[in-house]
Amino acid sequence: MKSENDMVLAIDLGGTKILSAVIDRDGGMLARDHTVTPAALGQEAVIEAIGASVERAIAQVSADISEMHAVGIGAPGPSNPEKGILFTSPNLPGWRNVPIRDIIQSLFDKRTFLINDANAAALAEHRFGAGRNTKNMIYITVSTGIGGGVIVDERPMTGAIGTAAELGHMTINDTGPRCNCGNTGCWETLASGTALARKARGRIEGGTSSLILNLAQGDHQKISARTVQEAAEQEDELAGELIAQTGYYLGVGLANLINIFNPEMIVIGGGVSNIGKRLLDPALETAQRRAYGAAYDRVRFTSPKLGRNSGVMGVAAYAFEEVSKSSF
Ligand SMILES: [Zn+2]
Repeated sequence: MKSENDMVLAIDLGGTKILSAVIDRDGGMLARDHTVTPAALGQEAVIEAIGASVERAIAQVSADISEMHAVGIGAPGPSNPEKGILFTSPNLPGWRNVPIRDIIQSLFDKRTFLINDANAAALAEHRFGAGRNTKNMIYITVSTGIGGGVIVDERPMTGAIGTAAELGHMTINDTGPRCNCGNTGCWETLASGTALARKARGRIEGGTSSLILNLAQGDHQKISARTVQEAAEQEDELAGELIAQTGYYLGVGLANLINIFNPEMIVIGGGVSNIGKRLLDPALETAQRRAYGAAYDRVRFTSPKLGRNSGVMGVAAYAFEEVSKSSF
């Protein structure tokens, strides 16, 4: 049996699911439970669901919450780790300036630490995954949006109020499409899966014929990044063109990141990155053309190693590291 110093309780709060896990110092998962996030039922229902999920996870290791070294929670939105506040979340309607750390801390009566979910995933890849042995690393996940985290000198960069590394919201084209954040032309409006699907829908509605529509069963609403990917795999011309264009914009953002952070490694994950060469070749060509040459040459591009548990593993690493800093 592991002793108290060896286990933390880590909670990955997502818009659709809650993952609770008991994790050891090496990132080993001793127990886990996942449950649906009752996001539509409001904050109290979500907190209750976290409580129930945690109980089930803890029971699997025949332990009590008091035996955990600390508690960590990963939040799906911009948050202030120092103050423990989740500012807002695109996936949790109605959540504004929620003191989630203190809520969880009093629920379990245990020191609790809050980290943004994308920063947590970046930290996990750095501590346990693709980025081990690097000092400066960037992790991006390209899916419906673009999220990410930046590791500078082996620490997650959080900024003055904790909202650093909102990579998906760097402006790429100031007159570009409207973003969920209220701005226009953010990176994720041009290079995410949602962007790819939107562009395909626009072109097909404009009269371009494409296999994409057949794969979406003739329904414009069913056009997704996945249907575009499938069409491209069958050599559909429009799909190939749009993926290359999305790759181009992905590369513009990568060039910015390389010039600003001079990372040793960029880990590119998320469902859309699985499109592979059709997307990544134009992305890297563009990044190479636009970034400072010597900095580009130093970057290794790689895929994540940890899969979908990376969030909760990063939350655990963060809790271990923060509690050891603050327990004096
Ligand atoms: Zn934005």
